[in-house]
Formats: sequence, C-alpha cells, structure tokens
Amino acid sequence: MKAAILSAPQPVSERPLQIVEVANPRLRSGHVLLRVRACGVCRTDLHIVEGELPPKQVRIIPGHQIVGDVVDGELVGARVGVCWLGGTDGTCTYCRRGMENLCDSPTFTGYTVAGGYAEYAFARSDFVFPLPQALDDLHAAPLLCAGIIGFRSLRVAGVEKGERVGLFGFGASAHLAIKVLQAWDCEVYVSTRGKSHRELAESMGATWVGSETEKPSVELDRAVTFAPSGDVVVAALSSLRKGGIVAINAIHLDRMPQFDYDKLLWGERQLRSVANMTRADARDFLALAAEIGLRPKVTVFELDDANEALMAVKNDAVDGAAVIVP
Ligand SMILES: [Zn+2]
Ligand SMILES: [Zn+2]
Repeated sequence: MKAAILSAPQPVSERPLQIVEVANPRLRSGHVLLRVRACGVCRTDLHIVEGELPPKQVRIIPGHQIVGDVVDGELVGARVGVCWLGGTDGTCTYCRRGMENLCDSPTFTGYTVAGGYAEYAFARSDFVFPLPQALDDLHAAPLLCAGIIGFRSLRVAGVEKGERVGLFGFGASAHLAIKVLQAWDCEVYVSTRGKSHRELAESMGATWVGSETEKPSVELDRAVTFAPSGDVVVAALSSLRKGGIVAINAIHLDRMPQFDYDKLLWGERQLRSVANMTRADARDFLALAAEIGLRPKVTVFELDDANEALMAVKNDAVDGAAVIVP
C-alpha cells in the first residue's frame, strides 16, 4: 500500500514525509483492518512531524482522524472513525475512575502506533466508532479530532445553555465548536488573528468578532483557547466574569506569561487544560454532530501531497479543515 512515512522530524518546509510503498498492515487480535476513505490533518500532526512532540517510533505513519471501511476483523463492512486515543490499558487509576483520557499507558493513533496517512490502517476494535449515515467521509474526518476535542473543551469549560462563550482562535476545532454552541443557544465571541478566520467567524454567525488582542465589551461566562500561545490564555482570562472558566485546548504552549492574580484569577476564575478525549466524548459528539447536521468546511489533499497539507495547516492557509484522501 501507499503510505506517508515520517523517519526523522524536520520543519515541514523540508518535506519530512516520504510517500512510499510499504507492506499492508497485518491484522492483530483485538484489532480491525481498515481501508482508509479519508484522514483529517490535525495541528498535532504538525507537532509530531516537526518534532515538538518527541518521536516514539523510528518510523511512523501520522494521521489520527481516520474514516475507514472495516475489511478484516470484527465489524467487517462497517464504516468507522478512529481518533487520537487509540487505546488505554483499562487498569490504571484513571481508567478505573472513568478518566480514560488521562490513562497512564495510552496509545495514540499516528504517534505511538501507525495512523491514517495511508491506504490501509489498523485500530483497536474497542476504539473505533461506527459513523452515522448523516456524516459523509470528507465531512466526518475533521470531526474525529478537531470536533471531538472542541466538544470536550466546551465540557471542560463547563458551558451551559444560553451562556456567553469566547473562542480564542478560529481554526479547525473552533469552527466546529461554534455550531455546537449555537445549537445550545449560546452567544459566541470570537477573538482570532487572520482576516480570513475573522470573516469565517462572522459568516458563521458569531455575536462578536475581534482580533486576538481585542476584548469583547461584555464579560464572558466561559472561554476556550485554541492557539498554542500563553498570551492568548491571559487574554481569555481577562475577558471572564467572576467564577468563569478558561479551558486551554493546546497540547503545547509557547510559555505561560506572568499575570496579575488579583485582577485575573481572584474571584474564583479557573484555568483548566484539556487533555485527549474519552470514548464517551466521541460517541456523544458524533451523535450530536449527526443530529445538528454539522458539516465542517474542508479542503481535500491527495496522499501524495501530505507535506503540502501540513504546510497549509502550518501557514493557516486552510479555512476549516484539511483532509487527505488516499
Ligand atoms: Zn488531533
Ligand atoms: Zn489507563
């Protein structure tokens, strides 16, 4: 099969992914073999390919938003999704407490095990999600990380119906989260750099749109930050009412700047981070996405152009999400 392989992390401008022929993955017990129909490109893939996340394998196929047909193993014939959380041990303290997103020995698709930038992939059969018919391949792929993690972020931020919610950054995750918030009758305030992202937020019905340094004129109940920037976290914190919560949706932040506790955190404001996802997040979100007719904006790339897809994500040159179709 054809696959995009990372042997040594490098800046994506050096084209670190090699598109080569490799042996098809072999079915292992407890797993399913998938023919990949589409695989979303996530910012985390960029962190893996460029080495901000240290390599866990000598050679790895990235990609953790896989839509595929099961061609071998249980569930043959089903169309399923595979996410970043590829497996957990099921035995650690966190798994036993229902916090499998924090598992001590997780596997991550496209990072610790092979992912979906390929014609075939495998996945643990208890970590695949049958996809509702309402979600077609291209539009389901970006839901599987950007969508689920965005949804989890709203949960971590404690969003309730009708609240004022800030989205700081308006990339792949936020442009899905806004639709969920609107379905919950929330007012959405978007702060983001980049004119095209601001225009997209406006066209999607945000109550207010500003640049990353602008502050809405009202105090927010909740905020989610999507940029890998500590300054953005502080901006979000400074927009909150007393008792409000900021959920930081970033696997990596440049740094955390000093900030004024008396003004920004006092008053029971809270700063939380969002880590990974649970299977319950995936199931609940995919059902909601089908119900509200969530259709992300997508740009399609061929597998041969996997490096270009990553470059486009890096340069914020994609409105919505990039999807690779092998
Ligand atoms: Zn991801
Ligand atoms: Zn565990």
